[in-house]
Amino acid sequence: MEIEKNLKNITRRIPEHVALVAVSKTKPNSDIMEAYNAGQRVFGENYVQEMVEKHEQLPRDIRWHFIGHLQSNKVKYIAPFVCLIHGVDSLKLLKEIDKQAKRNDRVIKCLFQMHIAEEETKFGLSENELEDILNFLRNDDNEMANIKITGLMGMATFTDDEKQIKKEFQYLKSVFDKYKQLQASNLKLETLSMGMSGDYQLAIDCGSTMVRIGSSIFGTRKAPKAN
Ligand SMILES: *Cc1c(COP(=O)(O)O)cnc(C)c1O
Repeated sequence: MEIEKNLKNITRRIPEHVALVAVSKTKPNSDIMEAYNAGQRVFGENYVQEMVEKHEQLPRDIRWHFIGHLQSNKVKYIAPFVCLIHGVDSLKLLKEIDKQAKRNDRVIKCLFQMHIAEEETKFGLSENELEDILNFLRNDDNEMANIKITGLMGMATFTDDEKQIKKEFQYLKSVFDKYKQLQASNLKLETLSMGMSGDYQLAIDCGSTMVRIGSSIFGTRKAPKAN
């Protein structure tokens, strides 16, 4: 009941052009089914094994987004079904995704994760690193036919300082705008994934087109387990 109500509240607050990823990590299937029965189809997970298990147990029309840090050696487990991978931050990982997508006869959509927070711990590319990868995708005959880069993702610093968060979101939006004209057969930046439970309104004001919301839908989580 609570989940359905939360979901309705959030859906009412986000404009139609903004996609909602319901972040269900650590939550039981019964919670996901409550959101599913309320109409939600896109769910986000950040542990490979957990996402694989949930995919096997839950309805087939759920679109699973991988939002965590993905290790190259685990791509093979999610490649058969994953809908969008948010956290791509190296060419090595991208090449592995392409390889595994090809094995599954699929094209897997990916977002590049940008480092926008002040914290050292968060993953992501610098603008220079992004530029290098984009140039590789555009200039070389890169032959990666089984991936499609559809946008950028970022996580703001964990702080109450709205000004700081806004600055980081605006920066990510400016990077997105700068590179979105670039196109290649496997590159077209259309999605800007930013905003979580605490900051999604701000993210939308700053140009987000996809928000990833967990605790505001499903309630608070226990401490994260090791990956
Ligand atoms: C957990 C997580 C979220 C959702 O966080 P909430 O604060 O619970 O909304 C969003 N994005 C990523 C990458 C996450 O790991």
